[in-house]
Parts: sequence; structure tokens; C-alpha cells
Amino acid sequence: MTESGLRDLDAIPLYRPDPTTCRIDLSDNTNAWGVPPAVTAALAASTLSARYPSPYADDLKRVIAGDTGFPVESIVTGCGSDDVLDCAMRALARPGERVAFPDPTFPMIPAFALLNGLTPVAIPMTPDYQIDPARMLSSDARIIYVCSPSNPTGNALSRASLEALASRSSRDQVIIIDEAYAEFAGCDALDLARSYDRVLVTRTFSKAFGLAGFRVGYALGNPSLVAAIEKSRGPYKVSALGERAAIAALTVGRPWVEDRVRLAMDNRSRFEASLVERGLAPVPSSANFVYLPIAGAMRIASGMRERGVAVRAFPAPEALRFTIGDWPVMLEALAAFDEARRCA
Ligand code: PMP
Repeated sequence: MTESGLRDLDAIPLYRPDPTTCRIDLSDNTNAWGVPPAVTAALAASTLSARYPSPYADDLKRVIAGDTGFPVESIVTGCGSDDVLDCAMRALARPGERVAFPDPTFPMIPAFALLNGLTPVAIPMTPDYQIDPARMLSSDARIIYVCSPSNPTGNALSRASLEALASRSSRDQVIIIDEAYAEFAGCDALDLARSYDRVLVTRTFSKAFGLAGFRVGYALGNPSLVAAIEKSRGPYKVSALGERAAIAALTVGRPWVEDRVRLAMDNRSRFEASLVERGLAPVPSSANFVYLPIAGAMRIASGMRERGVAVRAFPAPEALRFTIGDWPVMLEALAAFDEARRCA
């Protein structure tokens, strides 16, 4: 508490990505091809209402159940997967308990831990960007969070390490597997959420499905975990438009989404090969972005920005992260990257 009696939030920064707009924005891993046209059409044809949406987005849950084979009792939705992760921390751990996560990871994880009175525990990734399940399991954490494919590094975590977390965790631990980018990986861990009561998988409509602006995410897991998260989430977190957009993306928009996922995967391979041709070593990606450890990352990113291309830069360890889009856009990004490197 501060002197004024307010909670001391000094350790928690506001999330402020660079607000200047760039001609080409490859910084946030959203769908570079936009919103599925079938979603736009479905929303244009639907009527607006002054009433509240359904409290827990039950129609969307039914469509997700049909899509995944999970029963509706195993599904909780939220205002983006951010919200689902935040609510999961609040529901599944008591203040003072620990949340372990790989370092580097999605930066909201330590922030959500602190906001919920939990202690964040960063466990370094191995040199090949994998997790060390033994270290995570022995960290005395109530919640172990991992992300596969990993943000920011883009690689999928090994199946053996995910199985180790699921099978060797204790009964009072919860394993959260964040699959925000699973559609680009060709594999997922949904079977672990089916087989292990303490495994929760989170998903989002913000990446492959092109709906980041609508803010819809969900989690799949044992009904007792899901019921607790739904209580901590509260009602009306998914707007009526968000629910309709997500249902349309999973149904009529699906072929478009799958085509764009395939394009992103093809362009990802071409982009990685282009970096390798330049003598660089991108981390082999299973996501819709590529992580490139490189000296001078911050300077190169600002040089690229001056040339109209935004990418995400990391200062320590130094790296750049490129969202994958259409191939002509990636060629422009490569040209800006080359020039910025020459001038850096
Ligand atoms: N998990 C990961 C790994 C992410 O990268 C992001 C967004 N960048 C999220 C969760 C949250 O996404 P959203 O809230 O849009 O679903």
C-alpha cells in the first residue's frame, strides 16, 4: 500500500507499444491479412442490440465445443486470452503463491501475477529456447505457465517437456499452456488438457483468426478449473459483437483463416531462408513470427521504423521479432532491414 492507501503498482508498467503508425506494421503478431471477409459480412448483416450480451458467451462456447470436441463445461471465454490468463491466476492461486514461467516469455505474465498478489518466478530457457521442466517443477510454484509456440522466440516447446510438466506436477499445481499461436504449429497440447485435470490450454481469436480488435479468447480444461476461472472472470466479458465475430470466424470464416495460416507458414519458411542466406540464425519458428537474435537490435529496429517498417526489438538478449505477412511485404521488410543494418 502507498501512503494514500492505494495499492503500490510502481512495479507494474503500463503496456505502451510505440504509438506512431508505420506503413508496414510487423510488430504485434496479429493477422497480416486482416479480418476474415466472412466475419465482416456476418456482422454487417446482424442487428445491434442495446441489451447486454450473454453473461458467459454460451453460443460461442457451443461452437468451440463442436470445434474442439471438449464439452461446454470445459470451456471458459474472456476478453482476449489476456483476460482468461489474468482470471486463471486469480482463480487458481492464493495471494503470496508463486507463478513460474520461462524467461523470455509473454511479458503480461509477470504483470498479471503481480496484479493478483502472486510472486512471479522467471526460469531461464535453455540455450536452444526450450524449457527446463525439472527446474520449473521444483520452483515451488502453484501455477506453471508455458507458451507453445513460444512468444517471443517462436519455436514450439518439445512434446517431452510438456508431457513432463503434465505428468510430473503435483496434484495441487496447475500447468497453463498458452497456445495463442497453435494454429501455425501443426501440433497442439489439447490432448494433455483432456488427460490431465491440472492442465489448462488457452487460445485466442487475435492471431490466426484475425480478430485482435474484438478481444476474444478462451481456455480449455477440467470443468472444476474452468468453473473457478469463470467465477473470477465475472459476466459480460465477451461483447455481443465479439461473440458473433468469433462464431463467424470459426464457421463461415474458417476456409479463409486456414488459407491465410498456410500462407503465413510458407512465407515464414521463405523469410527464415532469406535471413539464413544473410548469414544470420533465426530461431526455427512454429508461429506467425520469426525471432532473430542479433547484435544492435534496438538500432536496427529504429532504422527500420524510419524506413516505414515496424518490428519488435528486444534489448537483452538483443533480438528482433518479425510478424509474417504477404511475401511482397516481407520483401519490403527485408530491404528496410538490410538498409538499417548497413547504417546502424
Ligand atoms: N499469449 C501470448 C503468447 C500472446 O503473444 C498474446 C498477445 N500478444 C496473448 C496471449 C494475448 O492475446 P489476446 O489477449 O489478444 O488473446
